[in-house]
Amino acid sequence: MIDLRSDTVTQPSAGMRNAMAEADLGDDVYGEDPTVNRLQATVAERLGHEAALFLPTGTQSNLVALLTHCQRGDEYIVGHDAHTYKYEGGGAAALGGIQPQTVTFGPSGELPLDAVAAVIKADDVHFAKTRVLSLENSQHGRVQPLHYLNEARAFCDEHQLVLHLDGARMANAAVALNTGLESVAKPFHSVSLCLSKGLGAPVGSVLVGDQAFIHEARRWRKVTGGGMRQAGVLAAAGLYAIDHNVDRLAEDHEKAQQLASALTDVDGVQVKPGWTQTNMVWLDFETDCGAQLASHCEQHGVKIGASTYGVRLVTHLDVSAQDVMTAADVIQDFFKTR
Ligand SMILES: *Cc1c(COP(=O)(O)O)cnc(C)c1O
Repeated sequence: MIDLRSDTVTQPSAGMRNAMAEADLGDDVYGEDPTVNRLQATVAERLGHEAALFLPTGTQSNLVALLTHCQRGDEYIVGHDAHTYKYEGGGAAALGGIQPQTVTFGPSGELPLDAVAAVIKADDVHFAKTRVLSLENSQHGRVQPLHYLNEARAFCDEHQLVLHLDGARMANAAVALNTGLESVAKPFHSVSLCLSKGLGAPVGSVLVGDQAFIHEARRWRKVTGGGMRQAGVLAAAGLYAIDHNVDRLAEDHEKAQQLASALTDVDGVQVKPGWTQTNMVWLDFETDCGAQLASHCEQHGVKIGASTYGVRLVTHLDVSAQDVMTAADVIQDFFKTR
């Protein structure tokens, strides 16, 4: 099966499994797992922050960041369909008493800073306290440019807000910008990076920030049930991913470009123009054919996660350039025979 539903479907490679098998281990709740400690030090350094914390998932990493930055009755500003707001079960509200204040994403996946300014609340007993601005990069595969990130930080400093990045796929953004992880992560007070997406690890995310923030985040990780013991067996996969799988993301971006070009002139479907910036291709259908397309693809060896009027196709290290062209043919055939 050629699986284009997500870059989370990757299997750990032989080299990665080997690194996991050979990892030195200890009890990480005691801070004694050398491999976890090495992963945390490595990611902190690569992202240009003081300290880091290894967590099981990106959802928990974003949640722990919000629990650490906010008190009950505070709020965070977030995109209207940001992962942190829409796809994490309302965790910040459910578990932290932290209210989301949404802003509609702009046309490039940014949060327009004038729209953010308009929802910051005054110091008044009627209002929640606005504490955090949370951005996403990449946002639906779209890259946020460095000048915008720096503007967002200056804006937050001016308004005394904390700037958090849901950087699940920030490595894709950095590679697309042809820059290091550090320049994408540096403008933020805290950043959550997923190891289990395009970087190819089976499990894990890393949260970075300053020493005091990570010290407090470690407490919230334990409170939310994320204190793991011999977690170095997982951290080893993360270290392998950071060492071997960052630069190669360019290949996934190339495959996405090839897929987008192959589907550009197909009747009945439109490639969302300008959205193919990293490893995602977004298609819009002229009719409500998502379910039929998905079952056609499945019959021909291609897995996609279509909704009624569109689909997101994701390239990753377990699909080859040939696989991508096969998938394009299968999708083309569906629209030709309609
Ligand atoms: C995947 C993802 C996360 C975290 O998801 P987990 O499955 O909990 O690791 C957070 N934000 C974005 C944008 C994501 O794509």
